Amino acid sequence: MEFTRVKNFINGEWVEDPNATYIPLHNPSTGEVIGDVPMSSTEASIEAVKAADAAFPAWKNASIGKRVGYLFAMRQAILDHQEELAVAIATDQAKHISEARGEVMRVVQIFESACSIPTLMQGETLDKIANGISGRVTKEPLGVFGGVAPFNFPALVFGWFIPYAIGTGNTFVYKPSNESPLFMQIIGNIFNEIGLPKGVVNIIHGDPNVVEAWYDRPEVAGVCLVGSSPTAKAIAQGCGKNGKRSMLLGGAKNFLVVMEDANMDVFIENFIHSAYGSAGQRCLAGSIIAVVPEVYDECIERMVEASKKVTVGDAMDPDVYMGPVITKEAKERIEKYVEIGIEGGSKLVLDGRNPEVPEKNKNGYFVGPTIFTDVTPCRTIAQEEVFGPFVSVMKINDLNDVLGLIKDQPFGNGACIFTQNQYYTEKFISDANVGMVGVNVGVCAPHPYLPFGGIKDSLVGTDKVQGKDGIDFFTQNKVATVRVVPPEGVAECGTRVDGDKSVRSCVAQ
Ligand code: NAD
Repeated sequence: MEFTRVKNFINGEWVEDPNATYIPLHNPSTGEVIGDVPMSSTEASIEAVKAADAAFPAWKNASIGKRVGYLFAMRQAILDHQEELAVAIATDQAKHISEARGEVMRVVQIFESACSIPTLMQGETLDKIANGISGRVTKEPLGVFGGVAPFNFPALVFGWFIPYAIGTGNTFVYKPSNESPLFMQIIGNIFNEIGLPKGVVNIIHGDPNVVEAWYDRPEVAGVCLVGSSPTAKAIAQGCGKNGKRSMLLGGAKNFLVVMEDANMDVFIENFIHSAYGSAGQRCLAGSIIAVVPEVYDECIERMVEASKKVTVGDAMDPDVYMGPVITKEAKERIEKYVEIGIEGGSKLVLDGRNPEVPEKNKNGYFVGPTIFTDVTPCRTIAQEEVFGPFVSVMKINDLNDVLGLIKDQPFGNGACIFTQNQYYTEKFISDANVGMVGVNVGVCAPHPYLPFGGIKDSLVGTDKVQGKDGIDFFTQNKVATVRVVPPEGVAECGTRVDGDKSVRSCVAQ
């Protein structure tokens, strides 16, 4: 692959920051350096904010049909470039190409959903609050928003932020992850291809300093992030000190609960997808498998048998199920958790360290399916986010037992139950203390028309992405109280102007 120098995209131009330092960009499937990424200066970040601010007045005042026209055009352009975009994701993020294609198609669906902004953004009116007075609520854009993306969903997170932000009339500065910037390098070209006005969306790469530069800028109305919980809390603090909005999705540790009546075939199929899709680097990945005693042994046997069939290798290889993890450090971190699991007394029944891969991938960052059993709730591997193809199996007494464990853990993103029992289903939906629940599914990701987000440490603040929640975050309500006073010489509707007869319409005197 050709070496790519990643660039910033400011005011519709690809630019190099003369004050930036550069870090290497790797292909995790091979370990090779495929480019470099600028660690931009604070000045470059402020320049991007200024470009977005300069674009705001005209963009805000463009008709809603015109703005949504650009979303339609983006949707079509993403479809036209879908393979190129998927290959970009399968290269620097090294998500398996089939999943990368799925992620791109999910973004298309998000754009389709955001195209209903003219309906979603409608305000409200309340007539006759008092005689001749009405109240009117309109949803207005706020200005410039900043967005910060994690490495694991370079396309999806772009979809969660940008169509909703700009469709409602805001302008944007977007910071991709330094580990997966290639997707946005193509998207910047697409912005120019569809003729998006300059400055409406800007892209800046770098360290936390480029985000921290936004907190003191009066033009910046708010910042959104999808990332780990410590990063979410840091941004909440930065925004909070100047009263800016923030929409912050954090880390996760999700339970998959297997009840005695679970359809084991359905569970196994969904477990494989949930635990090993994106090499387990997904905020809704199942990482604790909680099983009742009646099916505990059978469940483990089937999980191990199916996990051994998961093929590991190059993200571009169509015969492979699971690609590498994102960095050498991530691989080492996951391997460290394997040691912690063993030392903590849990039983390693499937060891994913150093799986066999083809010669060309020998420097890639691979971890195979890893399963610990006999895990108890207070063990480190049951509490911390490992973020890899790593699962902990726990024996639970019953549904109440696991509902208590879910309630007690700091994260609250998702949880799924496998059962055919209506009581278990309803009880789980009602009492699982998380933001998203699933029944007989392994990844409880809501569709683009519905809100997406957890609770507790998985969501810092209250705002979630997608659907009406996205509109609420990117708009502010203005309430107008209106009394219409008739101009001199015009009677009010319905008043009697003739002593003998009532008048149905406004009548000039
Ligand atoms: P991360 O928190 O390390 O980084 C996320 C982004 O924030 C990156 O662009 C990074 O450069 C930037 N960043 C890091 N520190 C910052 C700071 N102090 N101030 C401002 N910006 C900062 O996360 P990651 O490793 O890229 O992604 C994995 C994490 O994201 C996991 O914890 C995962 O659960 C979470 N995630 C959550 C969801 C969700 O929907 N809740 C979805 C995807 C990923």
